[in-house]
Amino acid sequence: MATEAILQRLITNPERLKDLVDKAKDVALQSGMVIRTKEKPNSSEVVTYYPFSLFPTPVPKAAFLQALAVQTHFNTLVDKISQDPDFLEEALASTIQADDFTAKLFDIYRHVQQEGRTQPIVVGLLRSDYMLDQGECRTSSLKQIEINTISVAGFGVIDRVPEVHRYVLRSVGLLGESECVPDNNVTPKMCAALVKTWELYGQKNAKNNFLSLCRNIPVIRRKFEDVSRRGSLDDDKKLFVCAWDARLMMERSLAVKLPDIGTQLAGTKKVQQVLSKPGVLEKFFPDQPRVVERIRATFAGLYTLDMGLEGDKTVEMALAAPDQFVLKPQREGGGNNIYGSDICQVLQQVKESTERTAYILMDKIQPTPVQNYMLRRDFPLQISNCDSELGVFGVYVRQGKDTVMNECVGHLLRTKSSEVSEGGLTTGICVVDSPLLL
Ligand code: ADP
Ligand code: MG
Ligand code: MG
Repeated sequence: MATEAILQRLITNPERLKDLVDKAKDVALQSGMVIRTKEKPNSSEVVTYYPFSLFPTPVPKAAFLQALAVQTHFNTLVDKISQDPDFLEEALASTIQADDFTAKLFDIYRHVQQEGRTQPIVVGLLRSDYMLDQGECRTSSLKQIEINTISVAGFGVIDRVPEVHRYVLRSVGLLGESECVPDNNVTPKMCAALVKTWELYGQKNAKNNFLSLCRNIPVIRRKFEDVSRRGSLDDDKKLFVCAWDARLMMERSLAVKLPDIGTQLAGTKKVQQVLSKPGVLEKFFPDQPRVVERIRATFAGLYTLDMGLEGDKTVEMALAAPDQFVLKPQREGGGNNIYGSDICQVLQQVKESTERTAYILMDKIQPTPVQNYMLRRDFPLQISNCDSELGVFGVYVRQGKDTVMNECVGHLLRTKSSEVSEGGLTTGICVVDSPLLL
């Protein structure tokens, strides 16, 4: 690989490396890849470059295209699940007994179901994440890590990353490679979905609660606490006191939610595990075996921890080979999963009780590490063995039964040191990257 040869040369030439890194940071800043600092998280006066990898990471083109191609099917699947109370009830029955957070979300879902939906417009903005499994047989296969229906970070700066990586490749003479870094146009396409939603809502003075990049839609930003403090429904005299009440109030309201509560529940790890069971995808796509096949091809092994024989088998399997699995609770945003010997510790504690049903077990994906420099403020510049995770963004808009938009709108490559088990974008552990399509 040409980039590998360049890397080896840079490793032995610190001056040349520093010069390249400084220029790359300049280009990043000029192109708008900026972020506030952790010391002054609320200051607009102090910003730094958004953490990024010096080089793009080779990704097989076929796997990249496969991930893009399957996205609209995942959009459809999530949207169908969100409208299927029987499925959600059954899929999450054991989880809500053990996990208070999911139980509270489910209470809100039930409440809205019983009361009846007030708003027929639905907008979804998803990110399906993948890693390349290159374990035993050394062939790359694309495996889904999870699908995010909430906590979908990453747009905004990522559209600028290709520019920086093309600059770096050109600077080291890799002109051909610089053309193998695909464009990304996530932000305008996501905004288009929000604009569409706003138009369907049909109220010129309705506030779009998210972004106002397109056509000057007025935007207000509120935390859940603010909503609970200041908001109220027209016909409701109740005083709202906590974030859960605020969430219920928003769900009951006419506002178009992103995501609505059913869509959030469709993105739980438990639903992901249930979808991998034989026959479940077929229920959602009864006459579309090709769609089922394409979705299923991206599934890694997922195992139930429900009480009963099957769950007992999962416990046994995990205890026997903990390094081959990841134990996942129903949480978002990184840093919650359990690995290696910790899996044994947790499972020993919960294996006899319904507490274990708060988790699912998943095969651990084994990517082949790739060397790169991760440029992060306050971290020394050093070559690292890295793993990457490819995210694909999907958006859809539905009004009643009519799907008005269903698109794949771009990608996000995140890269972290192979030595750490995980790193969310907002945790400062990983950097943004670009695929170098081979
Ligand atoms: P979250 O919703 O918190 O992002 P994820 O399921 O995406 O939860 O897990 C967080 C991180 O853990 C991922 O970004 C990835 O780095 C790592 N991870 C999760 N599942 C696996 C897996 N099956 N194999 C390898 N790494 C994984
Ligand atoms: Mg997630
Ligand atoms: Mg994730």
